[in-house]
Amino acid sequence: MGDAIKVYQPYLPDINEYMNEIKSIWDNHWLTHSGPKYQQLELQLKDYLKVPDISIFANGHLALELTLAALELKGEVITSPYTFISTTQAIARNGLKPVFCDVREDNYTLDADKIESLITENTSAIVPIHVYGQVCDYEGIEKVAQKYGLKVIYDAAHAFGVEVNGTGVGNLGDVSMFSFHATKVFNTIEGGGVTFNNPTLKEKLEAIKYYGTEKDDDIRNEGTNAKLTEFAAAMGICNLRHINEEIANRKAVVERYNGWFDGVTGIKYLPEQPNVKSNYAYYPIFIDATRFNKNRDQVMAMLQKDNVQTRKYFSPLTSQYSLFAKHNPQHTPIAEKASEDVLCLPLYGDLALEDVDRICRIILEK
Ligand SMILES: *Cc1c(COP(=O)(O)O)cnc(C)c1O
Repeated sequence: MGDAIKVYQPYLPDINEYMNEIKSIWDNHWLTHSGPKYQQLELQLKDYLKVPDISIFANGHLALELTLAALELKGEVITSPYTFISTTQAIARNGLKPVFCDVREDNYTLDADKIESLITENTSAIVPIHVYGQVCDYEGIEKVAQKYGLKVIYDAAHAFGVEVNGTGVGNLGDVSMFSFHATKVFNTIEGGGVTFNNPTLKEKLEAIKYYGTEKDDDIRNEGTNAKLTEFAAAMGICNLRHINEEIANRKAVVERYNGWFDGVTGIKYLPEQPNVKSNYAYYPIFIDATRFNKNRDQVMAMLQKDNVQTRKYFSPLTSQYSLFAKHNPQHTPIAEKASEDVLCLPLYGDLALEDVDRICRIILEK
């Protein structure tokens, strides 16, 4: 049996770099709530993501949930079920009804051509997901949103650092949410942020994450606690120094995988998109059991036997969990097939290329 390979390995800076970064916290005793590290990280992220404005939170889920609240959405929200449960829960936690729309066959993001038939007089927004860092059909989505006056809030949890035609992906739609969770390309241990171009939104978001407290200390709306700590911000400041190197290392891993799977019948991987600067967040393969000699679960079991961890990310669809299944008559056959075929292989910057070779030999074994 080979050495254990995990499916993710969170990026950590050198321990001395982090110790150095947190020293000032012992001088100022400022541990949380809009401290100097928090403010520095916000500015640096705004710059790195090439966005007009950003607000950072204790985690990506709360960033999305509270943004949907701040936008005062009502009724129904059209979204994709091919995502992490967080997206759908953020919608439901606001008392909104998720209406599930199928995805595109080429990259499993929301199919813009299928949105219109799901719109009713109660629809208020679209929440598409840049799944695996693949950029959605933003032009198609924008067209429908404009026609019906809908807000577009992107779940960009997977898309940190992704650019389209040289602009940050966080400029698309009304708001984009990024996750800085430990397993994401960029992490603050736990953390997240939303990017936007609406000057009134910043104040609303700052209030909602701090019990509703507004600049004049009055409270007009409900709020909660979703502040990012100084220790988390310090981790982000360190990790941001190394993000380009991490992405370059991931790219080498992805290209090694691609080389093995090129031309293999029954195994599909997601190629890079034209005009997109990718972040190599995940390496999903889609195993079509009618054309490959093993099905997805068999491949997963063979890898597990050799100590290689993989994940069925995303299976089940969020619409298939009991909470959502009972209210959702929609069928999303392309998403369903993807969730039966998908297997995410190990990917992180430090993954040795020899380990990629070992993984691929197991998968392609006759
Ligand atoms: C990670 C993730 C989230 C939630 O982010 P957290 O920072 O973990 O709360 C939301 N949506 C998707 C698609 C994710 O992968």
